[in-house]
Amino acid sequence: MTAALDTLHRIFGFNDFRGVQGRVVDRVLAGQSTLAVMPTGAGKSLTYQLPATMLEGTCVVVSPLIALMHDQLRAAEAVGIRAATLTSVDQNRAETRGRFLDGELDLLYIAPERASTSDFRELLERGRVALFAIDEAHCVSEWGHDFRPDYRLLRPLLDRYPDVPRLALTATADAHTRADILDQLGIPQDGLIVAGFDRPNIRYAISPRDNTTRQIADLIAETPGPGIVYAQTRAGTEKLAEALAKTGRPTRAYHAGLDPEVRARNQADFVASEDMVICATVAFGMGIDKPDVRFVAHAGLPKSIEAYYQETGRAGRDGDPSVAHLFWGAEDFAKARQRVAEVEPQRQAGERQRLTALAGLVETTGCRRAVLLRHFGEQPGEVCGNCDNCLNPPMGTEATEIARKFLSA
Ligand code: ADP
Ligand code: MG
Repeated sequence: MTAALDTLHRIFGFNDFRGVQGRVVDRVLAGQSTLAVMPTGAGKSLTYQLPATMLEGTCVVVSPLIALMHDQLRAAEAVGIRAATLTSVDQNRAETRGRFLDGELDLLYIAPERASTSDFRELLERGRVALFAIDEAHCVSEWGHDFRPDYRLLRPLLDRYPDVPRLALTATADAHTRADILDQLGIPQDGLIVAGFDRPNIRYAISPRDNTTRQIADLIAETPGPGIVYAQTRAGTEKLAEALAKTGRPTRAYHAGLDPEVRARNQADFVASEDMVICATVAFGMGIDKPDVRFVAHAGLPKSIEAYYQETGRAGRDGDPSVAHLFWGAEDFAKARQRVAEVEPQRQAGERQRLTALAGLVETTGCRRAVLLRHFGEQPGEVCGNCDNCLNPPMGTEATEIARKFLSA
């Protein structure tokens, strides 16, 4: 048995690596910089946590959200990994520095902006760094769907350690964004590892909106089990939660404007429930591990195919049949085009491309899954048999042409 597998059993209690995890871990242990593109839930954290416990020195983990960092910290500590966060909200920063310098940390989580401070640079010089892990690495790219300028501060720090491998991780990056991440973070082309993106148990459907509430109520009526409805606005989540309560299912609203206690309670209620529908803004879902979500509905257009994939990906993590149904209106595209016109000039090309890709998914008369998978660089078959267009082929232009001739004859 390899040492990595032994560590996987002993520390994490898992029998096998999943998907590409083993390949990623092997590269990291061999000191090779890597960009791993793996869907949400595929187990990206393990690919740096495991090497961190095996390598001499500390793995510095860059993560964009302090709340997520603290979740990760708790999870790591729960399996006995020596970990700490070094953020503005941590009271124990002096202690953490000491643990790092004494070589007593496997993982040190930081926000990207800390990387450029001279304080932090000096700290790193005096200790020992084994690996840099850059989570949500698409944030470094203007082509990515969530560009964060702070991520650009990482490169100078990384370049001070040419012998320390870099592991960049992201769930969603199209070909253009991947190339940009490699370039921005100084990872060689052959360091790219992409996991399979298909979620065969999710049935995709996309429909024009006529009466959103009724359409979603119908979906709820035919889909037992917990579900998420993504609304465009905070007010929209509350209105939908109220209207959908008439279906007889328990409903809750979730958005960043709610009283924190109410928000936390609604989330906890949903996670515990077997039939609840939560109407939420896109703020909902990150870091939530609920395997039995049976449907995800969108009451309007998501921001991008990446966002759509990530949001619908919260359905059916347990592998059981699940539904992702998007309801869109022409006015969604009008609003999105207006938004594109308002972003900084250097980002407009990327935003426009993102919108075009999304329109391609919405308007296709072919297989939805094929469009999705091609977007993420895979070569799928022509039909999946588990999306609205495969199950119920719409009349394409050819068929319409024939029908018209037939009718006018
Ligand atoms: P990601 O960051 O890719 O979304 P996480 O790292 O949060 O995914 O992992 C998702 C879940 O998968 C976690 O509950 C984790 O414990 C579990 N997991 C990771 N690797 C394995 C494995 N090899 N076998 C079984 N479960 C795993
Ligand atoms: Mg993760």
